[in-house]
Amino acid sequence: MTSPYQHFVETLEEAGRCLGVSADLLRRIATPERVHTVSVPIKRTSGAWEIYAGYRVQHNSARGPYKGGIRFHPQVNLDEVKALAAWMSMKTAVVDIPLGGGKGGITVDPHSLDDAELEALTRMYTNRIHRDIGPYVDIPAPDVNTDSRIMDWLANEYGRLTGLPTPAVVTGKSISAGGSEGRDTATAQGGFFVLQSALEANGESLAGKRVAIQGFGNAGANFAKLASQAGALVVAASDTSGAIASEQGLPASDLAQFKAEGGRFSQMNGEFTRIGPEEVLTYTADILVPSALEDQLSREIATGVTARYVLELANGPTTADGDAVLEQRDVVVLPDILANAGGVVVSYFEWLQNVSLERWSGNQVRTQLADVMKNAFEAVAGIKSARSVSYRLAAYCLAIQRISAAMETHPMGAESASPVKT
Ligand code: GLU
Repeated sequence: MTSPYQHFVETLEEAGRCLGVSADLLRRIATPERVHTVSVPIKRTSGAWEIYAGYRVQHNSARGPYKGGIRFHPQVNLDEVKALAAWMSMKTAVVDIPLGGGKGGITVDPHSLDDAELEALTRMYTNRIHRDIGPYVDIPAPDVNTDSRIMDWLANEYGRLTGLPTPAVVTGKSISAGGSEGRDTATAQGGFFVLQSALEANGESLAGKRVAIQGFGNAGANFAKLASQAGALVVAASDTSGAIASEQGLPASDLAQFKAEGGRFSQMNGEFTRIGPEEVLTYTADILVPSALEDQLSREIATGVTARYVLELANGPTTADGDAVLEQRDVVVLPDILANAGGVVVSYFEWLQNVSLERWSGNQVRTQLADVMKNAFEAVAGIKSARSVSYRLAAYCLAIQRISAAMETHPMGAESASPVKT
């Protein structure tokens, strides 16, 4: 199977062929500007030292400072972080916010650490990368298994180490530490707006639709709540421990609450049936929402998908083969670099509030997020119909156009630092 980064490069090349741009340009866009690999040693509560591997990939800064989350997961590796960083560059370009793309991660199972160890890990990682991040350089944020508490530690440690305490160095903080209203629900809310626009474009609405959700972390759980509020039925859902289904619709808020309190579906009791973990992806539904990790919708699974819409709230949930099958089967795939961009959009709003010493209301955040997501959807849909390509290729085309334009003209872009005039 192609690795996530290879998959990114192949999709970029396909979009590049469609636009007729040079292979050199694509290579320049594909290649990360900087790659940091760090060791993250901590003394465990047991007294033993453990050394974890950490990464920060700074992919592209032509459109602005690097921006992207930090993931704590046992599967984190450099190839994955490179792909995730590249997808951030694409994402910020698609939604047209003045930021580039980056991503970080530590290869660790955070559930194996106690609170003190988790804090030590976060502070040591910050120690390793603090010279390479900053409010105008590279702004981290939450991702899989990282939350506002971890972002608060990062901001605090950055201020301590540099003597320049500023909340703007990281987004996704708690409200009391300078976080934004609506950041916690932003990924789901952004995806919801994109789905609404796509349904409207086909003369449909979410009311009465059957929704299956893989992954019940921040994105999946909040999306379940929004979809239920809009009259959809969440008929199947999964977390890492198991999957559950109900023809009457699962109680989204109760599930979200149960998960927020640290529960696992395998231990939950209620009026639902248990299904196999992969069955959630092929469960009879109108809308499938992969909100977990990469490479979930393989060719085999894609063949069995019953949904007519796939909303990619996860990054890279569809393999290259899986994507081809879905396209051939006329399933509408709303691609990750558009569908899950709401998180980074509200991160941008948080950063704006921090540097301008403002506070926006939840309503203001939601209204502005709706504008950004709907405009991005329209721009992508325009390219899709003009070029007769999928939403994914259309989104990549848009990103290539915007990033290459910035690489040519932006005085701060990494390219302009090159002494070689081409
Ligand atoms: N981790 C999120 C993503 O993959 C958010 C990144 C951010 O807010 O900077 O888009």
